[in-house]
Amino acid sequence: MKTINIAIDGPAGAGKSSIAKKVSAELGYIYVDTGALYRTIALFITENDISDEDIPSALETADVSLKFIDGEQRVYLGDRDVSGLIRTPEISMAASRTSAIPAVRAYLFETQKKIARENNVIMDGRDIGTVVLPDAQVKIFLTASPEERANRRYKELLEKPGCPSYQEILDDIIKRDHNDMHRETAPLKQADDAILFDTSAMGLEESAAKLTALIREKLA
Ligand code: C5P
Repeated sequence: MKTINIAIDGPAGAGKSSIAKKVSAELGYIYVDTGALYRTIALFITENDISDEDIPSALETADVSLKFIDGEQRVYLGDRDVSGLIRTPEISMAASRTSAIPAVRAYLFETQKKIARENNVIMDGRDIGTVVLPDAQVKIFLTASPEERANRRYKELLEKPGCPSYQEILDDIIKRDHNDMHRETAPLKQADDAILFDTSAMGLEESAAKLTALIREKLA
């Protein structure tokens, strides 16, 4: 039986994962955060200090996998759960850089396809609607202005020690957007048949409710 695949692409910090988690819980689908896979590869490359030219051969020994525990995605490097370790600004930047390497994208391609073949999924990333799941039944391009994205991130980090300034966060977002949109392999762009969904003026609950309704309408 053909599974239902929903593709959500968009820039960093637009709220893709928070929104997609809520929508997938509502619809009873598995939520797949593909950014976590790119981050895990970035961690592998950083920890082992692998140079760019050695990445393709080193990937043969990178044992990256996904598990769903109580519906929640966890990422593994070998038998180590690295789901927490990959959430640092350094790994964000390293993932943005290493995800441009074609061998890295090729390595993760089949992992992503397989999950979508076997399960009803909401998969989020940068090239899901354009490259990974071009036949997805619904494609969403989820975005928000860079200033709004920086503002949300700043509020999230404010409580934590060593919080970067708003300007540093904004610069980071702009740099990552630029990397993601201008790389040669699978750049971030809206698929021709994707629906644009702008969350700049919407909170999380409202975004999730509207997106759930939109997906239901498209699948009806
Ligand atoms: O979504 P997240 O910010 O966690 O992704 C980290 C990085 O991984 C992104 O900046 C992007 O460069 C890369 N990525 C990608 N393709 C995807 C998902 C993430 O290139 N499908």
